Amino acid sequence: MSVLAENLQRVQARIQAACQAAGRGPAAVRLLAVSKTFGADEVRQVHAAGQTAFGENYIQEGVEKIQALRDLDLEWHCIGPIQSNKTRLVAEHFDWVHSVDRLKIAERLSAQRPAGRPPLQVCIQVNIDGGANKSGVLPGEALALAHAVAVLPHLQLRGIMTIPEPDDDPARTRAVHAQAHALWSQLKAQGLALDTLSMGMTADLEAAVQEGSTMVRVGTAIFGRR
Ligand SMILES: *Cc1c(COP(=O)(O)O)cnc(C)c1O
Repeated sequence: MSVLAENLQRVQARIQAACQAAGRGPAAVRLLAVSKTFGADEVRQVHAAGQTAFGENYIQEGVEKIQALRDLDLEWHCIGPIQSNKTRLVAEHFDWVHSVDRLKIAERLSAQRPAGRPPLQVCIQVNIDGGANKSGVLPGEALALAHAVAVLPHLQLRGIMTIPEPDDDPARTRAVHAQAHALWSQLKAQGLALDTLSMGMTADLEAAVQEGSTMVRVGTAIFGRR
């Protein structure tokens, strides 16, 4: 078995163990393999080991991989910051976007989604712990943005994404994940049909699963150090 296939198995086992510890079913959490900075060949190996959903931060790099891997049936997620001049590439090539944090970007994505493709699946990025130099709407702005995005015709709002500040104290990280889960629940209570809470990475996936994540985004533990 390849190193990458072994890494993937280890990450799957971590997710399974975390689900069990949290009293959640084995299918409660999806794995997004974050392939940024790694090549199409590595994505191919991870796909051969059973993974179909891949995440990219840098749009141009992601589009090149998407095009190089057209022969595979993969699901591509954009998880990085999106400038206005890149929305067309995202709308034309990706299946999901986790990093919508402005209405203007959402409107452009909806307008530029090619006819005949399914709606772009969207999460709103929330700056849950108020980190100073981070993307994402503040929690208090999330509801208004979610309602505005939910009615755009070529987008389907699925949930929220958060990236907590790295913290050596697992209890603090877990508390931030709990805040994200509470916000997600509030949005659902306001009538938004959400099924995705995108949180947890290599270092904090157990804490995220414990606090209700439905999708973890894992790069380093699968592909290695960047
Ligand atoms: C790079 C990245 C990840 C993966 O991080 P790892 O620590 O390598 O698992 C997840 N989400 C986002 C938004 C990222 O930029």
